Amino acid sequence: MLKKNRFREIDDELLKDAAFFHGRLAPGLYLGFFMVKKARELIGSTEMIDAVSETVKCLPDSVQLTTPCTVGNGWLKVFDYGNFALTLYDKKTKEGVRIWVDLEKTPKGSLFYKWFTRLVKEKEGDEEIILGEIKQLNERLFSFSRVKVEIEKGKHLPLMVCEKCKESFPVKNNVNGLCLSCQGKGYWVKV
Ligand code: ZN
Repeated sequence: MLKKNRFREIDDELLKDAAFFHGRLAPGLYLGFFMVKKARELIGSTEMIDAVSETVKCLPDSVQLTTPCTVGNGWLKVFDYGNFALTLYDKKTKEGVRIWVDLEKTPKGSLFYKWFTRLVKEKEGDEEIILGEIKQLNERLFSFSRVKVEIEKGKHLPLMVCEKCKESFPVKNNVNGLCLSCQGKGYWVKV
């Protein structure tokens, strides 16, 4: 059964689970919790949501830990744009909220600002301060806008068997009966 209401609030239990899941409670992960929270408030009671993260760093885990959207169930898409931004939107209407870190609003004197813009190399104890600033500054760190998402719904693509390696792969990748790896486009070599 789909757990469509599996949302979590920012509490001690979440922070403990987050440290385990992500490896530690990183500032980007923690910031992502507040961004998801705000996006949820803004879209209101929507039956089913999808999500997009515009960075591969931290933010996908913030979404996976606090919403029903995961990479594996296809409800979370992750784009490697390098923007610290995310969108939550209604599966049916495709309308939702995009939320991003807004450095125009962020106090320039904060350690958060310096950390985020990579102006300082983190020292022992900095992370604690940055986490505290995120909690305190919260909505002063990001902005949002209403958006309509233009992503095609994922389809179950037909498969075929590669003539060389005999593994199955999607027909759309087929060139001369070969899968991507056998076309020399793989990410590995045999050792
Ligand atoms: Zn192959």
